Amino acid sequence: MDEVAQIRERIDIVSFISEYIPLKKMGRNFKAICPFHNEKTPSFVVSPERQIWHCFGGCSKGGDVYTFLMEYENLEFVEALRILAKRTGIQLRQSDFQAGVSGKKEMIYKINKAALDFYHYVLTKHKAGKKALGYLVEERKLDERLIETFMIGFSPKDGVDLSNYLINKKKYKKEDLIEAGLAFYGRGPSTGSGQAGVLDFFRGRVMFPLFDHRDNVVGFSGRAILEPYSGGKYINTRDTLVYHKGSMFFGLNTAKEEIKKLDKAIIVEGELDVISCFSIGVKNVVAVKGTALTENQVALISRFTNNICLCFDKDDAGYEAAKRSLLVLEKKGMNITTCIFEESKDADEAIKKDPISFKKAIKKDVPIYDFIFSKTFSAFEKDKIYGKRKISEELLPIFTKISNEIVKEHYLKKLSLDLDISLDAIAKEVEKIEKKEVIKEEIKEAKIEKKERKEVLEDYLLALILQNGNAKKILDRCLAILKNYEFKTVSYEKIINFLVDYFKSSNTFNPKIFLKVLPKELETAFDTQYLFPLPKFEDEEKYILESEKVAAELRTLFLKERIKKISLKLKTGDRDADVKKVGDLEKELASTISLLSKA
Ligand code: ZN
Repeated sequence: MDEVAQIRERIDIVSFISEYIPLKKMGRNFKAICPFHNEKTPSFVVSPERQIWHCFGGCSKGGDVYTFLMEYENLEFVEALRILAKRTGIQLRQSDFQAGVSGKKEMIYKINKAALDFYHYVLTKHKAGKKALGYLVEERKLDERLIETFMIGFSPKDGVDLSNYLINKKKYKKEDLIEAGLAFYGRGPSTGSGQAGVLDFFRGRVMFPLFDHRDNVVGFSGRAILEPYSGGKYINTRDTLVYHKGSMFFGLNTAKEEIKKLDKAIIVEGELDVISCFSIGVKNVVAVKGTALTENQVALISRFTNNICLCFDKDDAGYEAAKRSLLVLEKKGMNITTCIFEESKDADEAIKKDPISFKKAIKKDVPIYDFIFSKTFSAFEKDKIYGKRKISEELLPIFTKISNEIVKEHYLKKLSLDLDISLDAIAKEVEKIEKKEVIKEEIKEAKIEKKERKEVLEDYLLALILQNGNAKKILDRCLAILKNYEFKTVSYEKIINFLVDYFKSSNTFNPKIFLKVLPKELETAFDTQYLFPLPKFEDEEKYILESEKVAAELRTLFLKERIKKISLKLKTGDRDADVKKVGDLEKELASTISLLSKA
């Protein structure tokens, strides 16, 4: 057995996954709300027997202890291997790493780290960074300690210095620089007379490195300070293998411990807001790096806390972004507050003006719906009929999306009271909004390709066979009905053939022994159906009856398809078509349908 298998053997998947998400025992398996997609009813299943997991909800992800860790922490296989090896105390050989050394992600982390060191050196030690350093220290009031903590840097404006350093000194290839988003092919004064060459992506900007929560440098955000500049005031690394817009926060690596400790995360808009907060000892702060929160970001932050304080810029754009963020936060059932400091445009400015009042505002954060409530009431006249209408049109769509029913009712009642409108009327309006939402959802769902009825039934049938204590009996009964049925899911047909073979020499079904003969490529299909959540049956007879009904419905669908095909051939005058065949098939169809009506 190799190290990978040894490690897998040593770790119990149930206790391992329990460290990340709460698991609940359900029959032979454990269940949980899937951590990889948004859902309300648990469809994430862990099997202690097979030491695997699978999600039967929207994301359909699954695998073993390695794939869970890779998915959960967004790791490469080699990284997951290293972590699990450490946990089990198993020594890895050099060959175990080979696969990962060439891994592109690892390469990008390394080259980004080299770029970070370069930028930081330029800012703190080199004359090319002197102006920028002066700006940060004098105008932005950042001290050396903050510059070190956040590893802030400066990209020289010549536009080739970083590329030259990475290629000549660090021996990276041009393609590596481009892959990491640090450079691009272009023409510039510094690439020589009209010739195209590699140019630095960031030029003349203060560089804020973006770390993931495991301290890998995934990209950079560059802020222009020297006028005039081209491009926006801020530019970010373009999407690469390791950096995806809207999937991370600035500052999470330094803030995550404090977030866990205080069980609260303050979310601000910009890097400088995070850094200013840090400078006055408020350290559970991250920046959204975009406009509104995305589902990926909410999934990430929810690993550390369920309490979010939205502290976006105090302008219209910030308010709109906060409102849009509520939707995604509510989907995860988070508690959401905000802090009030109306006189300044953002956290950074508020801290510069009066750090003590800012700290107070942070401590006295209020439920965000209270804030939205009073903001809306102060914007319209609540005593006039169209004022009432405006207020309800603004607030109801927000309140209907609150996931907790008690919180939701609290605000609906408050609205009814303050508008002097019956709760009945409010409830009617809510219903209208919810109906519209349902229709929107339905349209969305209809657009997502649905599994054919046949595929759904095949999934169910194979699960019924594999999960029964007497698999042979169920299989025999079903095969007697299915006859020459052709499976839509080819791997299932193969699994069933292997089962038939298996039962030639054994009457009892032992998955461990069966998996030894089953080809590797069919293992995932087997595991998935072996874990598939089945309903509870009163007794064995009901179980068999259900299996037979599923088989009969599949057979019916199959026969109908055949009849259609042959009839079409007859119509088009195909000589191979046979009238008698259609007659036979129709007779069989009638008798199969009668099987379905058995209850
Ligand atoms: Zn899922």
